Order: sequence, then C-alpha cells, then structure tokens
Amino acid sequence: MTKKKILFLTFDLISLAPNLLSAQVKDKYEVYKLTFLDHGWLNRVYPTLDCNDLDIPKIVNFCGSFDYVAISSMSTNKEEVFLISDSIRKKISTKVIVGGPLGIYEKEETGKHCDVVCYWEGDNLIEVLDLLDSKYKQKTVPNFWLTKEKFEFNVKSVDKLGDLPFQNIFYEDEFIYLNKKIIKQKKKFNIYGVESARGCFFNCPYCSNHYLNKVKALNNIKIYRKKSISRVIDEIKELSPYADQIRLSDDNFFFRDLEEIKFFVNKFNKIGNIQLVLDLDFRSKDYLGKAKEISKIKNWIAGTGIQSGSSRLRFDVFNRHISTSKILYLFNKTLKMCRESKNNIELSYSFILGYPKERLSDILENLNFILKLRGSGVGLGLNIYTNILQTNKTEKCAKHFYDTQSENFKKYSFYYFLHYLLNHLIYHRIDYFLPKQLNDSIFFRILNFRAFSGIYSFFIDMIYKSNQKTIRKSVLDSLELNNAKD
Ligand code: SF4
Repeated sequence: MTKKKILFLTFDLISLAPNLLSAQVKDKYEVYKLTFLDHGWLNRVYPTLDCNDLDIPKIVNFCGSFDYVAISSMSTNKEEVFLISDSIRKKISTKVIVGGPLGIYEKEETGKHCDVVCYWEGDNLIEVLDLLDSKYKQKTVPNFWLTKEKFEFNVKSVDKLGDLPFQNIFYEDEFIYLNKKIIKQKKKFNIYGVESARGCFFNCPYCSNHYLNKVKALNNIKIYRKKSISRVIDEIKELSPYADQIRLSDDNFFFRDLEEIKFFVNKFNKIGNIQLVLDLDFRSKDYLGKAKEISKIKNWIAGTGIQSGSSRLRFDVFNRHISTSKILYLFNKTLKMCRESKNNIELSYSFILGYPKERLSDILENLNFILKLRGSGVGLGLNIYTNILQTNKTEKCAKHFYDTQSENFKKYSFYYFLHYLLNHLIYHRIDYFLPKQLNDSIFFRILNFRAFSGIYSFFIDMIYKSNQKTIRKSVLDSLELNNAKD
C-alpha cells in the first residue's frame, strides 16, 4: 500500500518541531519539509517582507501533492500561515494542521483558518492523523482540535521526555521557499536544536512560560521535565556527522545540578568539534561551579538574559530577582573563567528594550550597566530583544522599537541608538574613551529631539539590513542554494 504524504511547513531552519513530529510518524507516512526562509528566520531580524510577497498559487500547487500539511509557526508569521492555509483549503483537498506557539496562544483565531489546531505539545500527532484517516470515527484527541467539531480543550503531556523518539533529520526531501521559488535543498543545514528538558520554574511575565505554567498547573502537568544526560549525549552523537553547531533549546539548562553538568561537559567534549550554544542563568544555585564546568567546553557560545540594567524594571516588572551588583560580579567571574580556559568562547547578553512600562530613568540605568562592561577583554555581543516571540504582550512591544516610525521610538530614539553605539564600541574594544557614567543632560535632550529621530532610525535600519545580509549569505552558502541568491 502506498504511504500517505505529510509536508512539515516551517518558518525557521532550526525549528525542532518538524523533526520531533516527523520522527513519530515517519514509519507510517512519507515525510517532507518546506522551510520559508525569506518570510521566516531571515525576515525576523529586520522585517522587509509580508504575506503579500508570497506566490500563493505556486505554494498551493506544491502542497497539492501532499495529503497533509502540518504548519508550525510563531504568531509573528500568523498572516502568512492564515493566507497559505485558507488558500490550500479553498483550492485543494489537502488537510491543514497548524500548531506551535501560534496554535497554543491563539487557538480560537487559528481554528478559523485550518482543519486541525494543535494547541499544546504535538507529541501525539500520529493519533490525529489516524483519526483523520479513519474519517472521524472518533471525535477527539488530546492537544488537537478538529475545528469542525465542538469539544472541551483537553491537554496532555508526555511525562518522560526520554520516551519520545530521537528527532528525525532524514526527510524524503527538504525544500526551501526563497525569492518566490521552491527549491530542493542540496545540503542539510549545519545547525540543530536539541532539547534536554522542557519547562521553567520561573515566571517572567514577558515569557511564554508565564502562560504555559498556568496551563500546566490546571492540568496536573509537571512544570519541568528532563531527559537523562546520557540520552541527550546520544542524540547529539547521532547529529554530529551533520552538525557544526548544536543549540540547547532548554528553557533553562541551569536547572540541572552540578554533577549532571559535569557529566555533560565531559561527554560532550569527546564527541568532536561541534560548537555548543546555550544560555547561562546567574540566578541558578551553584552558578559559579556550573559555569566553571561549562567553561571547559572547547567551543561554545553562551547568552545570558539580563533583560534590564534597571533594577526597577528587573524586580518590579520582569520578576527577575537578582541585584545589578551580583549580575556584574558573576558576569566578570564568568569572563575570567572563560579567559583562563583558553577555549573558543563567545559570551553575549540580552536586554528587553522598548517595554511599554520603560521610563527614561530605566533606559539610562541600562546604558550605565553597559558602560560597566567596558574593557571586558573578550568579545561581547549585545542582543537587543525587543521581541520575545510567542506572547502577544511582547509582540506588541516589538512595534515600539523595530518600528522606527512608532511613537515610542520617536520619544527615545537617541537613547535607543546610543545602546547600539556603546555596544559596538565595547564589542570592538574601542571603549577606552567612554565615560564611567552617563547622566541625563540638556545635551542628550537636544540630541533626542523628535526631529532627529529620522537620522537615528536611518542608522539603525542600516545596521539591521547589513546584519540581515550577512546572516542571509552564510545561510545560503551553507545550504548551497547559490542559484537562489538574487
Ligand atoms: S524568561 Fe527564562 S527564566 Fe524567565 S520564565 Fe522564561 S525561560 Fe524561565
């Protein structure tokens, strides 16, 4: 009997969802993947395209060869997803399933545009496909909503993550949508995500876990579930022939205890020359001991979410209870360990700028925090997060900063621009002439005149566009899609 075909459609080359979900169904179905490059990952750094730029007839025609299209998306690609899904359902008989953060956070609206919404973890996708294949003999599957049916939402999670199959990276074919063309991928992408755990005990109000933890509490689901380190290492080993970089996608790897981290580092270093990307958490118990172990990894990149140099924002708004002096102490200690280890290491820190409750005093505190990292001696990257994807609240924030025409940007444009400037000077270690402290002054206020905001937005746009070009080039080169560059 010929197998039915399912196309996993994603907007992110490193998205784990298609790999995890196709792993469950690949014995019974032929699995394919289509990644929207221009409209997804590459567009997120600095959005230049919207759904009107999609070649809908071409996409619908392509999707017509599949029995099912399973779309995993964040809310940022909502318009593209709804347009694609509506067009497929209007023209062809292919069934459309939509999940990911979009399905979770906006299930009612998503339900108007597809046949099935996955509104929680999709680890039981096979059950919903069986149900669709059997033409709805039974009517419900936990975590999935057949939008023609009325029923109570019923959430269920796999208790032991180690029971799930290894992620699948072998599709019948992988395709890229780029420049209005659908191109068969010649080469696998060299970066893979690996999850060692799901969930976070913290409740930062801007983060998706804030919402997920409430759903978990209502449905008796454990807040935090983890795999054994041996299992995680086995997964990385399996990916190692294809991966130059592994990204630990845990919400918080630092929930692991010191012994587990020691064991992980020891085993990881034996796998080969793969770069590891992970996040540090200064609030963790035994932080310094854990960071010391991590610093023994030969090649790694770590980010740490500071979120704000303003104590008011950090404590009262972001619910992150750690003092500025402790952050600076631990940051400097981490830098020292990195230097001493002589391994190939990059550290970066991230902020949320443009949060609606941000005041000028918070912005200045943040700038002064950055200044305290002068002369740090290792490469520092600053990621300015204006957008923690996945929550409505923060997607609204994004508009305050990315949208250089917005009111919020016009109000503080010089100060936002200054973040970029200081970061670049510190990153390139040309920070010797910077002052120790910045205070609000008449000079700054003049520079911050609304009439000048166009100049700052011009420079910020330039930085974003050049970042986007660099990322785009490296992605296309690694996929060998040279013919699609223009
Ligand atoms: S921001 Fe980080 S620490 Fe806070 S809830 Fe989310 S994952 Fe946890």
